[in-house]
Amino acid sequence: MKKILFFIIFFSINPLCAENNNLKKECITDVVKIDFNFSGTGNVSCKIINSRYIKIIIKPELDDSINPSPWFSFRKSKHSESIKVELDYMDYSHRYYPKVSTDKILWKSIDKSSISLSKKDKVIVIDFPPSVRQEYIASQELVTEIWYYDWYDKLEGSGKVKAEVIGFSVLRKPIIMFSVEGDTKNPYILIIGRQHPPEVTGVFAIKSFINELISSNELSENFLSQYNVIFIPLMNPDGVENGYWRYNENKKDLNRDWGKFSQPETIAVNQQLNKFVTNRRLILFIDFHSTYKNIFYISDTFNSSIKKEFLKYWLDDSSADLLNLGYDYLIINSKAIKNGVAKNYIHNKFKVPSVTYEVSDTENRDKIKKSSSILAKKMMENLLKLD
Ligand SMILES: [Zn+2]
Repeated sequence: MKKILFFIIFFSINPLCAENNNLKKECITDVVKIDFNFSGTGNVSCKIINSRYIKIIIKPELDDSINPSPWFSFRKSKHSESIKVELDYMDYSHRYYPKVSTDKILWKSIDKSSISLSKKDKVIVIDFPPSVRQEYIASQELVTEIWYYDWYDKLEGSGKVKAEVIGFSVLRKPIIMFSVEGDTKNPYILIIGRQHPPEVTGVFAIKSFINELISSNELSENFLSQYNVIFIPLMNPDGVENGYWRYNENKKDLNRDWGKFSQPETIAVNQQLNKFVTNRRLILFIDFHSTYKNIFYISDTFNSSIKKEFLKYWLDDSSADLLNLGYDYLIINSKAIKNGVAKNYIHNKFKVPSVTYEVSDTENRDKIKKSSSILAKKMMENLLKLD
C-alpha cells in the first residue's frame, strides 16, 4: 500500500486535482456557515435567502437525463438558532433521502418531520433545530476515496490479496486492481464496481461480497485453492471525489465505453482483460451498481465453460436464504446487446456468464451486507460443486 499512498500524496498536490476539488462557493450568515469544500460534494452552489434560510442549487455535471441521480452534500457549522436549508433540484426531481453525519462515517436519515417536499418533488426544505456540532448532510453516505483506502488497508492486512496500480484516471488518480491468485491455471472471476459515482449501495454490496470471498473459513480457503479472483472496486475515482451523477472527468459514461475503450479508466481494465484472451481463463464477471430496486441483470450462458446457465443455478440456490432475510429482488435476463455496457461486452467477448448486480438506493444497509455475503457463499459453493 505504500506505493498507492505515494500516489495519493503526490496527486493530491497536483494542480489539476486542486482546481477541481476546491474553490466551491460557501454561504456565511451571522447564524450559520454552509460550505462544500470536501470530497464528494457534487455540482452544488448556495445562495443566502436570509440569515436563517439558505438555498442550495443542485445541478448535474452535464445536462443529461439518463438515470438522473441528483447528488448533493453540504457541511453546516454549529448554529444556535434553527435554520432552513432548501434543496433546489432545478430541472430534476428529488431522489435520495437526505442523511446526516458528524464524522462522515456514521450516517442516519434526517427525521421525516423535518423535511417538506414541494413543487412536484423539485424542491425540498429541511428544518434544522439548533445544533452544537458541525454536521454533514448528503444524498447518500459519502463513500469517497478515503473510505476505499481504509478498506484496502484491511484487504492487504489479510495477507491474501495483492494490490496493483493498473492505470490512472483522467485526473491521474490510481486505478487499483486486487488479485487473489493461486495457480494461474485455475479459472478467474472478475469483479468490478463504482463505474457510476452515486451508487454507494452497490459499494456496500461489493465490499461484503469480497470480504466473504477472502474470509478465513473452510469454504473460502477451499474456493481460493481452486479459483482466482480479480477485483477493481473503484472504477471512477474522479467522479466519486467530485460527486458526479454519472460520468468520469471527461463527462463520459464508463459503462457505455466497453468495446470502444476511449477512457483511461476502461483502457486500464481492458489491458488486464487482454490477459484473458491468451493465458488466463475467465469464467464469471460481476459488476456492482445501484438503482431504484434490487435487480440482477443476467446474461447467462448455454454452453459455458463452467456450467450451462450457471447464473440461474447460483441465484436459484440463494433464493431461499435471500427470501428469509427479506431481500426482495428481480432477476432479469438481459440480452447482451453491443451498447458498451461492461456486462454485455464481457459476455460477448469471453462467452462467460455475466451479471450486473444492482442494489436498491434505499435498501436497508445491513440487509445489503448480509445478502451479498449469502450470494458470495452460494457462488463459492456452486463453483466448487462443478468439480
Ligand atoms: Zn450504475
